[in-house]
Amino acid sequence: MEKKCLSSLTLAQLTDTMKELGQPAFRAKQIFHWVHQRLVTDFAAMTDQPKTLLAKLDESWYLAVPKIERRQQAKDGTVKYLLRMADGNCIETVVMRYNYGNTVCVSTQVGCRMGCRFCASTQAGRVRNLEAGEICAEIYTAQKDIGARISHIVLMGIGEPLDNYENVMAFLENISSPEGVNIGMRNISLSTCGLVPGIERLAKENLQLTLSVSLHAPNNAIRSGMMPVNDAYPLEVLMPAVRAYQHDTGRRVSFEYSMVRGVNDSAACAHELAALIRGMGAHVNLIPINPVDGSPYSATDAANVRRFQNLLTELGVNATVRRRLGSEISAACGQLRREEMQKNP
Ligand code: SAH
Repeated sequence: MEKKCLSSLTLAQLTDTMKELGQPAFRAKQIFHWVHQRLVTDFAAMTDQPKTLLAKLDESWYLAVPKIERRQQAKDGTVKYLLRMADGNCIETVVMRYNYGNTVCVSTQVGCRMGCRFCASTQAGRVRNLEAGEICAEIYTAQKDIGARISHIVLMGIGEPLDNYENVMAFLENISSPEGVNIGMRNISLSTCGLVPGIERLAKENLQLTLSVSLHAPNNAIRSGMMPVNDAYPLEVLMPAVRAYQHDTGRRVSFEYSMVRGVNDSAACAHELAALIRGMGAHVNLIPINPVDGSPYSATDAANVRRFQNLLTELGVNATVRRRLGSEISAACGQLRREEMQKNP
């Protein structure tokens, strides 16, 4: 029998599991603490548990403990990890040091099947979803490695979080649990390429996290050229869903707009973008595209990004340019995993 991931269980599921094993409910909380608060990496470390129970758990369950395969640190303090999962697959995790706290950018899938043409993570497709506990373990591994508390999370690494919906929800529950590392939902951003059914489902969960939508273009012609997902959920379907999300949750969304020279960076695009999101009070994050191998796109130069930003501001849209951290260590998602796959196919 294949072992299952104990780190993925929510406290309620762990309580059921303990019941099935004939154990008192308080054991569930104790074990949850060991995994999600004390961040132990094997059952033997759970010293207040009966040895017989630990042996039994070890028969059918494992703890998600990724191995740091590579670690790169940039001058600005950004650390990027290539993490190897138990089954041999690799993913990427990045820690960014901001003045408000340490932020981890987590992957949610091994690879991605969304096919965005500028993105390195999707070039070889999707291998599998990450388990909830594997996503938690990205944060625990980073926290232990830097020796400082992680206070913020962005789901902006490899993968499309809403394409791994249940596991991502279990991850969010565990990572924000007061019985675990207790990272508040308001310190978590979930980024999506625009899977409308997922956005509608998420709206019903009514979480306090920030939804970030990878818009990247103000009309269908440009967006479909950059992102195949736009053929399934074009702007006239996506935008009402995003507006409804904002209305239902009372949480302002933000938009990511990766700038590609000659593709989506004209003054006309800024005008169209402002019209598209008018009245939402939404925030736009401008990101000069990180050129990746095998992609025809190049980045808008800094002066043009600034011009685009100023124009948006004049048009009443709140826009900032994302600070580039760690670019010399190819911290743009997917690049490190891709290098590794090319070396060891
Ligand atoms: N799948 C999710 C989250 C992962 S990507 C999503 O699409 O939102 C996080 C952000 O980085 C997205 O906005 C994505 O479009 C953007 N991105 C991906 N590759 C990029 C690149 N090479 N340069 C700039 N931004 C990129």
